[in-house]
Amino acid sequence: DLSIYDINESFLLASDYSRAELLGKSVYDLNVFDHANELEEATSQLAAQGSFSSREMQFIAKSGRRIQSLVSATFIEINEEPCILCIVKNVNDLRQAEENLKLSEQRFRGAFENSPVGIVLIDLDGNIFQANNFATEVLGYEKDPLEGIHISRLIPPEDRGQLKETLDRLINGGDDTVRTERRMLREDSLEIWTNFHIVMQRDSAGEPAYLIGQIADISEMKNSQRKMERMAFYDTLTNLANRRLFYDRLGQAIDHAQRSNHLSALLYLDLDQFKRVNDTLGHEIGDILLQEISTRLTGCVRKEDTVARPGGDEFTILLFDIKSPSDASLVADKILKTLRQPLTISGHQLVITTSIGITIIPQDGTDPNSLTKNADLAMYRAKEAGRNIYQFYSEEMNTNAIKRLKTEYELRRAMERSEFELYYQPKVRLSDQQIVGVECLIRWNHPERGVLAPVEFIEVAEETGAIVDMGNWIIAEACQTGSLLCEQAQRNFQIAINISPRQFKDPNLVSTIQRSLRETGLNPATLEIEITETMLMGDVDAANQTVHRLHDLGVRLAIDDFGTGYSSLSYLKKFPIDTVKVDRSFIMDIPSSSDDKAITSAVIAMAHKLNMEVVAEGVETKAQLEFLLTHRCEYAQGYLFSKPLPLSNLRHMIQPNVRIMRSP
Ligand code: C2E
Ligand code: MG
Ligand code: MG
Repeated sequence: DLSIYDINESFLLASDYSRAELLGKSVYDLNVFDHANELEEATSQLAAQGSFSSREMQFIAKSGRRIQSLVSATFIEINEEPCILCIVKNVNDLRQAEENLKLSEQRFRGAFENSPVGIVLIDLDGNIFQANNFATEVLGYEKDPLEGIHISRLIPPEDRGQLKETLDRLINGGDDTVRTERRMLREDSLEIWTNFHIVMQRDSAGEPAYLIGQIADISEMKNSQRKMERMAFYDTLTNLANRRLFYDRLGQAIDHAQRSNHLSALLYLDLDQFKRVNDTLGHEIGDILLQEISTRLTGCVRKEDTVARPGGDEFTILLFDIKSPSDASLVADKILKTLRQPLTISGHQLVITTSIGITIIPQDGTDPNSLTKNADLAMYRAKEAGRNIYQFYSEEMNTNAIKRLKTEYELRRAMERSEFELYYQPKVRLSDQQIVGVECLIRWNHPERGVLAPVEFIEVAEETGAIVDMGNWIIAEACQTGSLLCEQAQRNFQIAINISPRQFKDPNLVSTIQRSLRETGLNPATLEIEITETMLMGDVDAANQTVHRLHDLGVRLAIDDFGTGYSSLSYLKKFPIDTVKVDRSFIMDIPSSSDDKAITSAVIAMAHKLNMEVVAEGVETKAQLEFLLTHRCEYAQGYLFSKPLPLSNLRHMIQPNVRIMRSP
């Protein structure tokens, strides 16, 4: 009848019954089982098997509270009476916890799936193993699952290295979260901008378990940000830099100039009579005009320069890192020429001119305000002087600019008027003081200024390109003189010509030389071409080609002004060089400067090792000659022997067997 024989305290406590209420009562009578069949099943199992363990059963406490329990039962004997020992374990709390967990998991899943942020769970190899709806949507993976693909597939190829580093830092380094702003790739290859946060999840032992990635699409924000940035730094009408960006670049140019001794220039432009166009033809045409002018201005400068429109019909231009102020005048000239080309807008033919003021950075100012103010001042002077011209802020530079312009203009006519003449400086063999050759040095017989040396005009000729015509004339003239001198001296006579950087780059140089050689019948071996180290250093491949083509012609090659460039003899070894001319600046201070003596003797010794001949330039004293003789320098030029001479004065010096100096 299953009446209760004894109960322990724990059961009483849990069931709210007192001992008296239970002792001797049959369990069938008590209302402690929730389901009658549970008791039924339990007793029949007990009857069949003699015991059971951990059956899940529900008891009802006196108060009606349900107690989830695990029950084990077995037969025992008490006082030789068969009894059943029942052990009841209360698992209410455990079941409750399980229930709570299920609920919270549901909540979490709800939050995960419906979050307005894309979430992906990533394993430690970088593979996505779970993704929420939003991630799928944002990344456009509606058809294919995101699950199973590698996270790097979502990143543009050029950013993948960076992503790998980030993951490494999370997995192997100490970081637990990394927040980045990065571009991601949708399945349709479209790029979006995202805030991408990755959080490391660790297991209870603190070991990396997996990663949570959160993705927020910020493309729209980025776009408007970019638009705003553009508006903040660029002029909307012309797309040129605005005042703010210009000042910023100007500041950089000032820093650069002060740090590294480089020049930059600020050009301040004001269109002449723009107001009249605006007033008579209307703002719309005025706007189109400003746009057209912006395009023209941009076409006049290099890409490292900045053209800006601070407002109205004013433009500013920053020429970054120029070689000399004359570069600024070249650009200003180009702008004046380009702008005054007529243009047609809606049937109206317009000619626009401009006035330009120029300041040089850093000499005309070292802060953006004063530089701009000074350029503005110079611009007003240009207006006063009659418009369509440029003016430097500094008077000295204006004078130079005018002189330069004049030289440029006169140079163009000098060729036609045969104002150039070659002078010849003898080159002397030191062992017997015989003249073995001459170097051609150009002079300009200027109608007003007299005989001009190259310093007065070579640079302008180089910059304007006039040097190429001039150079061709020099080559022809030199070859002619060369064959004449060979005939007169009745021996091979060397004739050297200087080639300028621009000429050296001229693709026709080699064929011009070849033609002159052919026309005069001059033996190529008597012609020596002088180039400088710097010409061999820029575009090495092109230089190498030119040098080899010259070498193949059979002409000799000399390095002029050696020691003033940045190369070394071992660098020059790559090229087929015959002669090294030691620069006058080293010879000048011999014998007083021990440094120069050391350098000169070292250059001579090394050149000989490399099978090159050495010519000392600018020898003026006997002491220098002594030194050169002692160190086995084989040739020299200089006032000690002769200044450069016109051909008529040279002739008598090169009769056979004339020694240039009597022995001391
Ligand atoms: P460079 O080729 O190094 O010419 C040597 C210069 O030193 C010449 O100056 C010459 O007159 C001067 N000189 C020679 N011996 C002495 C001396 O003992 N003392 C002093 N103080 N000076 C001496 P120049 O003729 O004024 O030519 C200067 C530079 O102009 C040349 O330097 C050369 O680079 C360039 N040049 C001259 N003629 C031509 C030419 O026809 N074409 C090219 N592209 N450049 C030329
Ligand atoms: Mg020379
Ligand atoms: Mg020289």
